[in-house]
Amino acid sequence: MTDQVCACPECDCAVDANAQVQGGKAYCCEACASGHREGAPCRMAGCHCGESEKIERDDEV
Ligand SMILES: [Zn+2]
Ligand SMILES: [Zn+2]
Repeated sequence: MTDQVCACPECDCAVDANAQVQGGKAYCCEACASGHREGAPCRMAGCHCGESEKIERDDEV
């Protein structure tokens, strides 16, 4: 049960005993567990899920 990954659709981070559990699903961090509603990026180093939602239109200029 140690190879479980974050339930966030854009996140492949592994979750451990510190996982945030919401609705029966395990997320790697609180930002993912909340669905990045506040634009909060994933707290796991090297993971940028959540951030991409904020900059997806930035390169249109
Ligand atoms: Zn992540
Ligand atoms: Zn996420």
